[in-house]
Amino acid sequence: MEPNLDELIICRRCETLQKRVELPKKKVAKCIECNEVLYRNIEDSFNKGLAFSITSLILFIIANSFPIITVLITGQINALTIPSMIYSLYNEDFFVVGSIVLVVLVIAPLSVMLSYIIVGVFIKLKIFKSLTRHLIAFLVISKSWEMIDIFTVSILVALVKLFGYAEIHFGLSAVALVLFVIVDIFVLKNIKPVELWTYYSREYCG
Ligand SMILES: [Zn+2]
Repeated sequence: MEPNLDELIICRRCETLQKRVELPKKKVAKCIECNEVLYRNIEDSFNKGLAFSITSLILFIIANSFPIITVLITGQINALTIPSMIYSLYNEDFFVVGSIVLVVLVIAPLSVMLSYIIVGVFIKLKIFKSLTRHLIAFLVISKSWEMIDIFTVSILVALVKLFGYAEIHFGLSAVALVLFVIVDIFVLKNIKPVELWTYYSREYCG
């Protein structure tokens, strides 16, 4: 019988085509030719992604709670948090920049993290199947946002120039933001659409 395409996997290093098998917990599948790690137990990699999403969410909250940038607005020096910075941008009539910052720094990362966490909880409890399916579809699309983190850093640098006088506040918030970007890249890199769908169908239908 011809194997189903979903059951095949190509080694990233040597491009040998191999058949996918279900792995027990804590096990990894390696290439028969070059020994490259092909994939891990689906539940293990999913749990890892979930743990990183929760870490990422905590860092996100820290990064948004403390001042990240110091600016001079109407003669006064203000230490701004990310939310108050976005508010100031709108207030100073920088609508486009304000909206870009809002999307790049808040909406995009928050929606990915929350979706991953919600999908994780729903799959484990085997509830809200149809909503989970939509969220997974969204996560698959969000994979194309990997560049957004680099964008985040450039935005902050651009902001310093935008406000006549501004400095990045290298406090807890900046550290949290940098860590957040790193963890976020890791989460996005680890979202493998095929695995999400396999895990989904195994938990709800299998
Ligand atoms: Zn190989």
